[in-house]
Amino acid sequence: MSTVPSAGLAPLRVDGRLDRLRGLLDPAGLDALLVTSNTNVRYLTGFTGSAGSLWVDVDRAVLVTDGRYRDQAPDQVAAAGAVADVVVVSGGDRSPITSLAAERSRVGLEAGSITWSEQLRLVDLLSGPPVATDGLVEGLRELKDEGEVDRIAEAAAIADEALAGVLPSILAGAVEEEIATALDHAVRSGGASDRAFETIVAAGPNSALPHARPGPRPMLDGDLVVCDFGAMVDGYRSDMTRSLRIGGTGTGRAADLLGAVLDAQLAGLAVVADGVPIAEVDAACRSTLEAAGLGDAFSHGTGHGVGLDIHEGPAVSSTSTGTLRAGQVVTVEPGAYLGGFGGVRWEDTVLVTADGHRRLTLSPKEL
Ligand code: ZN
Ligand code: ZN
Repeated sequence: MSTVPSAGLAPLRVDGRLDRLRGLLDPAGLDALLVTSNTNVRYLTGFTGSAGSLWVDVDRAVLVTDGRYRDQAPDQVAAAGAVADVVVVSGGDRSPITSLAAERSRVGLEAGSITWSEQLRLVDLLSGPPVATDGLVEGLRELKDEGEVDRIAEAAAIADEALAGVLPSILAGAVEEEIATALDHAVRSGGASDRAFETIVAAGPNSALPHARPGPRPMLDGDLVVCDFGAMVDGYRSDMTRSLRIGGTGTGRAADLLGAVLDAQLAGLAVVADGVPIAEVDAACRSTLEAAGLGDAFSHGTGHGVGLDIHEGPAVSSTSTGTLRAGQVVTVEPGAYLGGFGGVRWEDTVLVTADGHRRLTLSPKEL
């Protein structure tokens, strides 16, 4: 369920999105698209339920859902300003899709979300072979409007507050699981509808695992600690990683690692701007770490888009082929991981602008 929007946020503008999708149908060789990704259905109609398929052709948009959403679906579609009919069926009834499909021969299915069994059922209903599509709605979602940016920024601000409150507890003897739980609680009590994803708090040897799960080990003096977490507001997410050393940064190997990865992150952020090849952001981070002798320790991509999903387009990696566009929201999150010793990652969520970026996660990086 959506939450009451926070005061001062620009309204979410769902109207216009269906028409932008319609503009993509014919160039993709389609008369219609059956949207089965819950996130894409939400983006196009405002409906947040967990069961819904959206038929979109040049003339109509029809949301098919079940009795659990009899009231919620039309209410949310109307509140969002989407021009879509809502048809409520009892579980498994395909008749609305059958009648719509009878009029259209080139029907696209979302290859990334439709199940094998659902696809097999639909093949019998369609008048022509279905067309596998990839990323049509996801491409539209990459460019955020003001209402979306406001919500990601609000989620980022809630996470900033949460970290500021929990940071004094990250001391020798603290336990990863307890710090992670404290961050989750602070995010929720700070106004988020949920955390953005499963919170990572990883200390000591665990910090050398980029996607470590918080465990019961008490932190020791000198441990590196990686905290990667975010908040959710009206379905929109934030993503931030901060790293520190228990007992203070000091000097030595851990301090060098913290500094080198921060240099890499700042180098990556410095090149973010509209029109920049995305791979250049990755190259800026990677070359900085290579110069510090840490090229092999940077074992993942540099970042990803953030929005209704925690990982969405565009991917920011060495193999990215596109260019950044103003309105995209991406992370820049280089890391270096030394097995048996520890790891460091610095991550911010930023809005790409015409001449650079606006950082949305604002927690200090001198911890
Ligand atoms: Zn993250
Ligand atoms: Zn991330």
